[in-house]
Amino acid sequence: MIIFGTRGYLYQLAVLTLVCGWCGNPAAHTLRKRVTKFTLFFVPLFPFSTKYATQCTFCGGEQQIPKEQADQLLAQHVAAQGGNPFGQSPQQPGHAPGSQGQAQGQNPYQQ
Ligand SMILES: [Zn+2]
Repeated sequence: MIIFGTRGYLYQLAVLTLVCGWCGNPAAHTLRKRVTKFTLFFVPLFPFSTKYATQCTFCGGEQQIPKEQADQLLAQHVAAQGGNPFGQSPQQPGHAPGSQGQAQGQNPYQQ
């Protein structure tokens, strides 16, 4: 007897400030990746489905986006943070002068 099935994994990739397609607010959105893996005898073997979605933290509306758009959003997100994936600190003292202005310096929905 062979037992097989699927198992879903959810990854939160980033928190982005986007204008929500549902409520129209420029709110923080979580960018998520959902990977569905094929399992055999409850052991995940390989992913056969990867989907990306953004979820508005203001209204909870979720929107599926293609991988290309997710990649683009992630790239913008990383660029906006100066390549630092560990959160943003725009009011950091002693900020190097002459550095480029931040495109999305502040996020009112995030500490
Ligand atoms: Zn919304």
